[in-house]
Amino acid sequence: MKAWEANIRKVVPYVPGEQPKKDRMIKLNTNENPYGPAPGVKAAAEHMDLERLRLYPDPTADLLVSALAERYGLNKDQIFVGVGSDDVLAMAFLTFFNSDKPILFPDITYSFYSVWADLYRIPYKRPALDEQFRIRKEDYDQENGGVIFPNPNAPTSLALGIRDVEDIIARNQDVIVIVDEAYIDFGGESALPLIEKYDNLLVVQTFSKSRSMAGMRIGYAMGNPVLIKAMNDVKYSFNSYTMNLPSLILGTEAVKDEAYFQETVGKIKETRERAKERLTRLGFTYPEPSANFIFATRPGTDAKTLFEALKEESIYVRYFDAPRISQYLRITIGTDEQMEAFFRFLEHYLNC
Ligand SMILES: *Cc1c(COP(=O)(O)O)cnc(C)c1O
Repeated sequence: MKAWEANIRKVVPYVPGEQPKKDRMIKLNTNENPYGPAPGVKAAAEHMDLERLRLYPDPTADLLVSALAERYGLNKDQIFVGVGSDDVLAMAFLTFFNSDKPILFPDITYSFYSVWADLYRIPYKRPALDEQFRIRKEDYDQENGGVIFPNPNAPTSLALGIRDVEDIIARNQDVIVIVDEAYIDFGGESALPLIEKYDNLLVVQTFSKSRSMAGMRIGYAMGNPVLIKAMNDVKYSFNSYTMNLPSLILGTEAVKDEAYFQETVGKIKETRERAKERLTRLGFTYPEPSANFIFATRPGTDAKTLFEALKEESIYVRYFDAPRISQYLRITIGTDEQMEAFFRFLEHYLNC
């Protein structure tokens, strides 16, 4: 081994879901939105003045921050934007989790949290979800250097009631509590109103799921101005121009079209209800879903084998070979047509 190899930072990276390059496939594996971005986004993309790309973008991302401030009834100094919520969350870990005490997040949750903690050398503990995959709020009463959890949780799709969310925030006022609301537009109650009451709360959301713009990479955090300034200080010590011009322009258009947003989110929720019924009829069980996916298992059917069989048919869902969840599949809610093809295959496979 070369001497310098000892000084290489060794990390076990996050493994994203597959992005197969196929024309004909049914992609229910990474919780993308099956509907396109708002019509205004497409129109703005067509009319974008590309000459402007020779200039650096606005480092304050004012256009987008202003649109978000208006949408959520906040001041601009309460909003931080970044390159997907993954960037926002990574920045928040770097900014807020600097204690010697472990940060806390559930044992079954978004697997990026442990990756960032390892990367930044932040100690962490992972209290176990209960048998029904619920977060036990009492687990967050122990000494810690910060708390983070998604609500609704991933990959379970289960939402924690807002009273329990508030309890966790209220009992941890000496540290920053981050609520990752990547899926909140599909169900559950947002903790956003609580940022006025608790100065230790950071709420993180994304354009990748409910706003159909995963390819654009836009995420944002909302919290009190002291937290937002601290994050901006770290950002300006790292890369001042995180948001590119197309993201600023197209993201702003997406925020403006509330009607399209409500319509597409509504359709996904309706399709989810039908998918629940159909899964139940086929003998699956699942925690009550609040996100745009269902985390399902079927007694007597091996999840990994089913996952592989679906893949053979170019139907992609997500499988996690991890303790406690290795008999589950995470199924993103697609269009009614996509779900129909998925269920037709399941019926055939299960001989129902
Ligand atoms: C999808 C997801 C994110 C990241 O989304 P971005 O595309 O980076 O905005 C963050 N947290 C959870 C729980 C997610 O599922």
